[in-house]
Amino acid sequence: MARTILHADLDSFYASVEQRDDPRLRGRPVLVGGGVVLAASCEAKARGIRTPISGREARRLCPDAVIVRPRMEAYAEASARVFEIFHDVSPEVEGVSIDEAFIDVTGLGRLVGDGPSIAAALRSRVHRDVGLALSVGVATTKFLAKVASAVSKPDGLLVVEPGQELQFLHPLPIQRLWGVGPVTAGKLNDRGLRLVADVAALELDQLIAILGPGWGRHLHALAHNHDARPVVTGRRRRSIGAQRAFPRGRLGLDEAEAILLDVIERVMARLRRAHRLGRTVVLRLRFADFTEVTRSHTLAESTNTTATVVITARTLLRAAWPEISERGLSKVGIALQGLSDDAAVQLVLPFGDKDLAGVDAAVDAIHDRFGKSSVVRASLLGRSILGVPMLPD
Ligand SMILES: [Mg+2]
Repeated sequence: MARTILHADLDSFYASVEQRDDPRLRGRPVLVGGGVVLAASCEAKARGIRTPISGREARRLCPDAVIVRPRMEAYAEASARVFEIFHDVSPEVEGVSIDEAFIDVTGLGRLVGDGPSIAAALRSRVHRDVGLALSVGVATTKFLAKVASAVSKPDGLLVVEPGQELQFLHPLPIQRLWGVGPVTAGKLNDRGLRLVADVAALELDQLIAILGPGWGRHLHALAHNHDARPVVTGRRRRSIGAQRAFPRGRLGLDEAEAILLDVIERVMARLRRAHRLGRTVVLRLRFADFTEVTRSHTLAESTNTTATVVITARTLLRAAWPEISERGLSKVGIALQGLSDDAAVQLVLPFGDKDLAGVDAAVDAIHDRFGKSSVVRASLLGRSILGVPMLPD
């Protein structure tokens, strides 16, 4: 069966985070990093900047560029949130770098939609929830999905239909093939080979004669879209989270806490389904002006108990409340970090937590059977957060 693989890649990642967080940078050429430029906004790329490049050279090419210092924490945080969205869509996610992943969605058709619709949904979710542009390529191999996302940029979606692979690939310049840099491209161009079709027309022996056995075989395979590599999900996730955005407006503390509780329910259900425990509770707040802050607290012991996380998150929310009521709130999120497998820790949970774990399991089971709205935690009705699940009338 043909696989359906997405390659999802954030556009000009570091520079886009800077433009997202500082409206004055939008629409302007932005360079991240002064001595060595690590990243350039699409406006700077349009002026011929290719990273990495020295700051001096970049300023020569683009004298009016705004240079900003890298904020790795902000990038790591944005990346974690984008990967949470990827993992929401499919368990088969292979992170390639901080801003790029392969996602295998083969066979998810009946559940969540086909490749193109999943890709479209991913793009709009990342845009809406994280404020960044994501380009996605959809194809039957990893290689081709990556080519497709690159061709689709900026802010694009490109689907290569099964059976159409070579029609898409062959008219492209050979530089689009994975690993073809200026040296290899030069060797091929010297022989009049410019397009992938030109390489595909050669016999393997001829390519090996030009490039040697390693590169010869590699390019021969790619030019025919032979790439059987699976999406490898070996790397375990470092965080599980969810969030809720809402129109700007003045929320009361009660409303904010109810929203927070709902978000926590979702996160904890996912945590328990994944058989993980979390140790650090991270509260993410976005103010009405779209600036974002996080507040976190690390627990003495890892937990998968909703009530423990609710108490922690509430305390963080209340501590931030003076600032929230001044600045307005437009999004609230919760993430659990410091994840571990739950099997090893189960035995050391104190009795109280075990009882609460029973409540959580009951809530999860009812949600599973009857849907999310069937159980409303007592706190949503203004009672104790440790109350038993209640069926609404
Ligand atoms: Mg990228």
